[in-house]
Amino acid sequence: MKAPAFDYTRPRSLDEVWRLLAEHGDAARLLAGGQTLLATLNMRLSEPAMLIDINAIEALKGISVQGRVLRIGALATHREIESSALVARHAPLLAMAAPHIAHRAIRNLGTWGGSIAFADPAAEWPACLAALEGVVVVRGARGERRVAAKDFFIDLYTTALAAGELVAACELPLREDGDVYAFDELARRHGDYAIVGLALAARRGARGLQRARLAFLGIGSTPVRVPRTEAVLEAGELTPAHLDRAIETLAAELTPMADLSHRPATKRHLACVLARRVLASALAAA
Ligand SMILES: Cc1cc2nc3c(=O)[nH]c(=O)nc-3n(C[C@H](O)[C@H](O)[C@H](O)COP(=O)(O)OP(=O)(O)OC[C@H]3O[C@@H](n4cnc5c(N)ncnc54)[C@H](O)[C@@H]3O)c2cc1C
Repeated sequence: MKAPAFDYTRPRSLDEVWRLLAEHGDAARLLAGGQTLLATLNMRLSEPAMLIDINAIEALKGISVQGRVLRIGALATHREIESSALVARHAPLLAMAAPHIAHRAIRNLGTWGGSIAFADPAAEWPACLAALEGVVVVRGARGERRVAAKDFFIDLYTTALAAGELVAACELPLREDGDVYAFDELARRHGDYAIVGLALAARRGARGLQRARLAFLGIGSTPVRVPRTEAVLEAGELTPAHLDRAIETLAAELTPMADLSHRPATKRHLACVLARRVLASALAAA
């Protein structure tokens, strides 16, 4: 199928974007990497009258360390993140997750901001952002605001972005001594959207994990954190018995949504298998 007819514009500044969004309202869509939007246009799931291509806007580009955070510009592509030395050093969880996103051709074009704004519950970046407890920098005509990951993803494909706002960047805490990370997912074929995935950001303590943040993808309508399981993981040495207790807590805590091919019970089972794997990999790296 072919996309319906639409107008296209490529503004050079954010002020121009605000003007265009105010003028076209709901009939306009921002175009970043186009790896989701163009597919939905071709399938006629969306029929915007105006595409506002944001790729010429310098303020949305780049990956940099700013004070105590790593700032990832909305237009940073999956590929740029995957190959960034700054990411590898300061937020290695993203480097671990990136190869799981689709295929290289899509990673060359798809963007961080597009993925965060689209908020697909099976996408890798939202789960990484949740595990790292990062912050989304939201901009609109009235200025900038910062929204914590836990408040940004509200429901299925629904975020805290208001009309006329966009994702400008995200800020992630810099890796500190003792921080360990792991990412893995279960998919039918490499590059497919995951059935279940898990991002882990933890800090080693003298006895086990001082801090554990687990964020699942493919389980609920948003990235899913599991505070009860995290508390168990933080409460003792990671002996095999203690790990068993954490996995039992996880099985009781998760209430997965079914997808077209998998029942909630299957997803729960897969999530527990994955959690063991991811924890073992983080501890081996530690
Ligand atoms: C075959 C295939 C397989 C894929 N597999 C995966 C996968 O395994 N994992 C995964 O995570 N993704 C996957 N994707 C999606 C891909 O990662 C997209 O690149 C990503 O979801 C959206 O980024 P984009 O830059 O392409 O956004 P676009 O397609 O340009 O835009 C997507 C939506 O976000 C909005 N938007 C874009 N940028 C912003 C912004 N800065 N602020 C506010 N709104 C914005 C757009 O208006 C649009 O509604 C796959 C895509 C394809 C085609």
